[in-house]
Amino acid sequence: MLTISKVTKKYKEKTALREVSLELDCGIYGLLGPNGAGKSTLMNIITGNIKPSGGTVYWDGADIYALGERFRSLIGYAPQQQGLYNSFSGRRFLSYMAALKGIAKKEVRAEIERVLSFVNMQEAADRAIGGYSGGMKQRILIAQAILGDPGLIVLDEPTAGLDPKERVRIREQIKALAGDKIILVSTHVVSDIAPIAKEILLIRSGSIIDRDTVENLCRKYGGSKDLEEVYMHIFGEEEKDDASDTV
Ligand code: ADP
Ligand code: MG
Repeated sequence: MLTISKVTKKYKEKTALREVSLELDCGIYGLLGPNGAGKSTLMNIITGNIKPSGGTVYWDGADIYALGERFRSLIGYAPQQQGLYNSFSGRRFLSYMAALKGIAKKEVRAEIERVLSFVNMQEAADRAIGGYSGGMKQRILIAQAILGDPGLIVLDEPTAGLDPKERVRIREQIKALAGDKIILVSTHVVSDIAPIAKEILLIRSGSIIDRDTVENLCRKYGGSKDLEEVYMHIFGEEEKDDASDTV
């Protein structure tokens, strides 16, 4: 169980998150909102990469900042930015990440094969990441996030910049991860997440404005027939200004 309690994040004058409180148990959650809403900030806080200005995050009741290094092995995180390890082969990148995560030496080889096969990247594993397509880069990022089989998996815009076919493939791979884990996936593309999410968390200007099943959200927001309509109803004006990364 992940508990986010009154988390606020301020960057000088700018408030990126305002007293966000959420409780998540196992399942796939879609964090949906336009660019600048605070998705990456929230994910960086949940994964312990940045500290909140106020509030706390608990994992099974324990403060994640108190858990420190132990928390690292409990979470898998695929950040939004990529391209940091272009000269590494996929396999070398995974072995580097496995070491950072503290995975036992004798387990590393089998674990890398497991995650490579999960994302269907065995064939390309010995090639440099720099030569991968966008979809392959995302798949290797997901592979490192699931190293060690963590109970909390956080994927920040895993489908950004991908073509429609690759988007569906990533979506199906995320779906296959589900089980007794918490999986949090951010996106501003409704179709990437609506078919697989247990619940959608709607985020706007640093606040979670609603959370519910796709079905209930459609009912609540004017009886819309799909979540796309709900999204345009709520965020239409903001998305109009953002022509980047549209399908
Ligand atoms: P999203 O991932 O939903 O696009 P972000 O969490 O990246 O949103 O950003 C939320 C807000 O916080 C934005 O207005 C952004 O400009 C601001 N922000 C994010 N990171 C920083 C930073 N390091 N310094 C200043 N402002 C930031
Ligand atoms: Mg972001």
